[in-house]
Amino acid sequence: MKKVEKILKNNVFIDEKTHKYYLDGIEVEKPSVTKLIDLLPHHVFDTSFAETPEGKQILEFGITRGLHLHKIAEDFINNGVEKSCCKAYSHAEMKDWLIWVLNEIMAEYPETEGWEIISELSMIGKEYVGTLDILLINSKLKKYVIGDIKTTKLLAKNKEALQVVLYNELLKERFKQVKFINFELQNYFVINCNNINKQIYLIDDETLENALKEKEEIFSILKS
Ligand SMILES: [Zn+2]
Repeated sequence: MKKVEKILKNNVFIDEKTHKYYLDGIEVEKPSVTKLIDLLPHHVFDTSFAETPEGKQILEFGITRGLHLHKIAEDFINNGVEKSCCKAYSHAEMKDWLIWVLNEIMAEYPETEGWEIISELSMIGKEYVGTLDILLINSKLKKYVIGDIKTTKLLAKNKEALQVVLYNELLKERFKQVKFINFELQNYFVINCNNINKQIYLIDDETLENALKEKEEIFSILKS
């Protein structure tokens, strides 16, 4: 494990099968970022389409695609290995594109300039828990970048922005816990990896402003 990664991941463990979080070996029962977002009715993901057999299959394909591509990114970031995906429709093609994007990112934030790329960072805050897909962090420059991987066809940009904003709040709590001071957020980016929608984008100011308002809404619901 890399240096900063070791500090940030210390004491926190997530069981990938049960999605349970543990702090120093003790289970923590707090809502996840996903649960928090569901507090705002307009962001709840409508799964009623999955009531038909075709719909159910679409939903299951989507879940599998997400799991596979997240795992591929994790293996590539952690071990530098490019694993091949399954035979499922278009997975190989999406995998190739995802690896290409990760290579570009790693070239833009080089290790030689002090950047570390961290995959699957689980965090436990006072109010909620969450796992960040990608963190780029530079302890010399005191800068960091938050990245999220999505594998859906359609983008819900507002929801996506809210998610990364909530991760950033968790990360700031984590920085306090490990005494990282004055780290500055440089950017949020989203990698959308779907065979009909492959793109990487930054979150624009207007969307970010909206997400910050929604974050406050969620925090006031939590307090009530
Ligand atoms: Zn696959």
